[in-house]
Amino acid sequence: MLACCDLHTHSSFSDGSLSPGELAQAAAAKGVKYWALTDHDTVEGLSEAAAAATGAGIILIPGVEISVEDYENRPFHLLGLGLDGRDGSLRALCRRQTERRRIRFLEICERLKKNGIDIDGEKLTASFRGAPGRVQIARELITRKLVKSVDEAFYRYLGSASGNAVPFRKTPLEEAVAAIREDGGLPFAAHPLSLNLNWDRTEAFLADVRDRGVAGTEVAHSGSTLTRQRYVQAIAQRLHLLMCGGSDFHGAGKPQAALGRLSNGKPIPLTFLPEVLREKYCQTEQKRV
Ligand code: AMP
Ligand code: ZN
Ligand code: FE
Ligand code: FE
Repeated sequence: MLACCDLHTHSSFSDGSLSPGELAQAAAAKGVKYWALTDHDTVEGLSEAAAAATGAGIILIPGVEISVEDYENRPFHLLGLGLDGRDGSLRALCRRQTERRRIRFLEICERLKKNGIDIDGEKLTASFRGAPGRVQIARELITRKLVKSVDEAFYRYLGSASGNAVPFRKTPLEEAVAAIREDGGLPFAAHPLSLNLNWDRTEAFLADVRDRGVAGTEVAHSGSTLTRQRYVQAIAQRLHLLMCGGSDFHGAGKPQAALGRLSNGKPIPLTFLPEVLREKYCQTEQKRV
């Protein structure tokens, strides 16, 4: 099997359905050689992931996906890849965001009560580790057979049109960039096409965030067609941005994203692993031998 990479995955420390250990095993089975765990606003799963990656014989690139402040009113996610795991400002930022997410989670549960759905928010957040989000509430709604899928849960109860979406304060881009770099990592704009800007504005967006310290952009993503991926790649090359690629795998809640795979089902090639990260982790691989 040709070695591939996946630099964007979520575990049960945020809104993925597999534990870091299960993810490492699944990644190895798919031929993923370089695997980044990038949970939303938390690095708590990374120590478990590191041990599991070693056990599965694959290389962990420690990561995170930070919800930064909206860009022109559109949700903007920033990946941090190649983290060293120091107890510094990134860890502090994640703790702060996790607490904001927890308070917002409880508020959403309160709003759902007005829809006749009685979820004990405190009990539910206590039942999982890491950063709480709307997908965990969606899963509870599925368990109660109130909806059939995560998408239906967002459409009916959790999305912006539902009246139950509670905003939470996001991290300013500059702060997230500085924290990722302080921890030895590189910041990448995640799934730039999900901002839904036209091509000119996508390029302007990436140029703007590059000037504010972002090192690269996600180019390969399971939600993007290969034609659109090629456009993003051309923009990245024009702007001299690093390129990364990942599936944004979440497990059962998002069946359309397959681990280590592009939207066409082909493995994510190692060309989407930036050289500087490959070198950083090749050395750890050699040290281990
Ligand atoms: P939160 O971070 O709590 O605001 O939840 C948003 C996350 O839910 C996104 O980053 C997606 O990973 C996930 N998600 C899954 N399905 C949907 C959907 N239909 N609409 C929006 N977000 C979704
Ligand atoms: Zn997610
Ligand atoms: Fe994201
Ligand atoms: Fe993601």
